[in-house]
Amino acid sequence: MLFSELSKYYEKLEGTSSRLSMIDILTEMFKMAKEGEVTPIVYMTQGSLAPSFKSLQMGLAEKFAAEAIGMSAGRSKEEVLKEYKKSGDMGLTAEEFAKKARIKRMKSEHFSVSDVFERMLKIAKTSGQGSQDTKIKHLVVLLSSSEPLDNKYLIRFALGQLRLGVGDATILEALSSAFTGSRDFKAELEDAYNKCGDLGKVGDLIARKGERGVKGLKVELFSPVRPALAERLPTSEQILEKMHGRCAVESKYDGLRAQLHIDRKNRRVEIFSRNLEVLTPMLPEIARAALHEVKADEAIIEGEAIAYNDSTGEFRPFQETIQRKRKHGIEEMSETMPLTLFAFDIMYLDGEDYLDRSYEERRRKLESIITPKGRIRPSDKIVATTAKEIDTYFENMVGDGLEGIVAKDLGARYVAGARKFSWIKLKRSYRGELSDTLDLVIVGYYLGRGQRAEFRFGGLLTAVYNEKRDMFETITRIGTGFSEKMMTELEQRLSRIKVKNRPARVDAVVDADFWVEPRFVITVRADEITKSPMHTCGKDSTDTGYALRFPRIISDGVRDDKSPEDATTTKEVIEMYGMQKRTRLGEK
Ligand code: ATP
Repeated sequence: MLFSELSKYYEKLEGTSSRLSMIDILTEMFKMAKEGEVTPIVYMTQGSLAPSFKSLQMGLAEKFAAEAIGMSAGRSKEEVLKEYKKSGDMGLTAEEFAKKARIKRMKSEHFSVSDVFERMLKIAKTSGQGSQDTKIKHLVVLLSSSEPLDNKYLIRFALGQLRLGVGDATILEALSSAFTGSRDFKAELEDAYNKCGDLGKVGDLIARKGERGVKGLKVELFSPVRPALAERLPTSEQILEKMHGRCAVESKYDGLRAQLHIDRKNRRVEIFSRNLEVLTPMLPEIARAALHEVKADEAIIEGEAIAYNDSTGEFRPFQETIQRKRKHGIEEMSETMPLTLFAFDIMYLDGEDYLDRSYEERRRKLESIITPKGRIRPSDKIVATTAKEIDTYFENMVGDGLEGIVAKDLGARYVAGARKFSWIKLKRSYRGELSDTLDLVIVGYYLGRGQRAEFRFGGLLTAVYNEKRDMFETITRIGTGFSEKMMTELEQRLSRIKVKNRPARVDAVVDADFWVEPRFVITVRADEITKSPMHTCGKDSTDTGYALRFPRIISDGVRDDKSPEDATTTKEVIEMYGMQKRTRLGEK
């Protein structure tokens, strides 16, 4: 496929405000792709060059993009920057300059998608002295031999600002239609994606090997599994009932979720976060322990890394564990405050995929390859058959400063990438007045008024994720509780991802001063979930949805560990609303 054809699909995607037509456009686009092109097209459409765990992001600085645009159009960088100041969009500026320079240019070179992808890879990978010049040169080659519309998308891509608003589920649905003729195969594609965390690989599999190829995909080392998530219920009785009278109960540690991939023969360890990003450099003591302590040649195990004092039995607060996410002083910190990995699952061992084995079998295997006192040790666990046992265990855990418990279905497989009742969490915060916190996606923001005018920021419009519809549904505006520092930071981050119209995957009845690409997640606490016609979260046939009363942001800025699709879901809000009612009824 020519890149100029891809640009035209991007233009159509940008112009649509409906998710369904987005899928139609993507379907047609995938059908046009030649063998081997599906992977680069999938990555590029999501604005990247590789899955997140390969840590290969585009993100050229604007001044270099301006230089490349200038060179390709025979103009100065200053002229480009002047124009950019007016339009606020470097892609549009590139398109304009290319239009004006057109007559002077040679004939277009008709770059293929693969040509562009390869050059973009070179741009991303070039580093060290003189690398900026090399990057600019590659970009100039692409810009000066392409159409104006291509220039727009080339520049947006190079800057990491493509923002087509296409999510994972949308791509999966389109891949299903393009290569099987129906959207029904989406669930199997999603299964494959959950096993390898790589949408490009799934695209390539269905295009080359068809349905059988996708179904046969096995877990592989260094290709992270998308994590299983827990449902919530308010009481031990309900948990036990859901688990048919018998379940495992583990401590819920409040640290960093870590998935370890261990290849002992080649002395290679990689650690992935909940979001499938590479955590290895942040957890050197865990990576070292993986090679020395885990009795296996190859394994994928999962757990929670937390600062824990072995001699006092004391767990340190999350704020201390999270300090590891800094860039500097990590080795030192790994000595003064080493983390312990409380392992709670195993997905792969010495050539065998463990995802479909029962919890009991996985747990037994896990306990057989690590020791109870190691830096990597099994999470604490009991097997309960009465609600009282669960309650006592819960109280003990909370007494030890932990978050609560996670109950696990003894017979269940590892449900990758999904929130299912095979794991049920019960947290300290569900009891008493406070309900659980919510992770919300920012979809828009408001200008500051009155005292806040100087910040150009006056509040947020936020949404939850509806998995079934693959849409973001608004749930609340947040107008209070921001520190000055937070307002400045939010304005800076959000103004960079502003989009002209409401994104196709955002469902809203209220307006925002500025819409933004759904990208950033914040954690919010509220007094209550109420019914409201103002928001689209879970709206019913009378157009009444759910909203939050007295919402306040409690995360320190945006949560970099969660992607928009990891936000609280509509289904969870409805469940939380039900739990809230039940608790209140119980009180009467
Ligand atoms: P939360 O903010 O409540 O941790 P979450 O959306 O990040 O929610 P959930 O699926 O709701 O994730 O809860 C499971 C999380 O709890 C896991 O992501 C993991 O990091 C953590 N955790 C701590 N201890 C355990 C355990 N023993 N088993 C499973 N998960 C655990």
